[in-house]
Amino acid sequence: MSRIAYVDGVYRPHSEAAVHIEDRGYQFADGVYEVIAVRSGELVDEAPHLTRLRRSLAELRIEGALADAPLKVVIREVVRRNAVVNGIVYLQVTRGAAPRDHGFPKVARPTLVVTARRSRAPDPRIVEEGVSVITIPDIRWQRCDIKTVSLTANVLGKQQAREAGAYEAWMVDAEGRVTEGTSTNAWIVTADNLVVTHAADHAILNGVTRQALIAVIRREGYGFAERPFTVAEAKAAREAFLTSTTADLMPVVAIDGQPVANGVPGLLSQKLRADYLARIAASA
Ligand code: PLP
Repeated sequence: MSRIAYVDGVYRPHSEAAVHIEDRGYQFADGVYEVIAVRSGELVDEAPHLTRLRRSLAELRIEGALADAPLKVVIREVVRRNAVVNGIVYLQVTRGAAPRDHGFPKVARPTLVVTARRSRAPDPRIVEEGVSVITIPDIRWQRCDIKTVSLTANVLGKQQAREAGAYEAWMVDAEGRVTEGTSTNAWIVTADNLVVTHAADHAILNGVTRQALIAVIRREGYGFAERPFTVAEAKAAREAFLTSTTADLMPVVAIDGQPVANGVPGLLSQKLRADYLARIAASA
């Protein structure tokens, strides 16, 4: 079955779908995106993803994007036309096409692209074994809370991780504190069983998975702190894990080649993962 993409009001074969060469997303990375998981035919946490999309658009002052109600219709139609039962939906909104000039164009209409593809949930064997991360300097700008398509530092960081045989790179600020992964949020469990992740300020993207997991942690009554942690603290942690829409909750068992605790997924990480997945299943 051939894939179908939605581009600016039209459903097209994926291989023929295209945007203008002067689209500002292409020329300036002047746009935002979201990735929403589809599990058992249901969109996971669509509402917080759309809330974050609106926030990102507002922060970049992109006006005139398709409203939520018609956008939801498009999302469902793209999922349906691609027969995605388990996979992801990708949405991208840019400021639109206009003659190249850094300042905002006087007349431009946002470009909306929506695609969907089938993909499997994370491989249970990888989850069982856990993954390794490396640490790298966080060289990004100061508004990492906006989900822009400007991902150069994240792309370079992920590639560095791959070349090092690691699953992810955790980015570290000038004070030696872990901000987040290149496409995931970073967490540790301290020796006294406190679950810790960076606060949702301008230094990180407030992951939708992160938000959902915090709700689970609060509901279950686990100790929790939103604060930065250092690389040294992470290496000495009882457990570590990462979260994202596509990874769910993935145990981290080594940092820079050094095992976290005894180098196997932590019990609390496994419990939180199960609780998180149960929440998705219950809301489907
Ligand atoms: N941090 C960054 C930099 C990301 O790119 C992502 C996801 O793409 C995340 C965190 C996790 O966010 P979410 O849980 O919404 O997928």
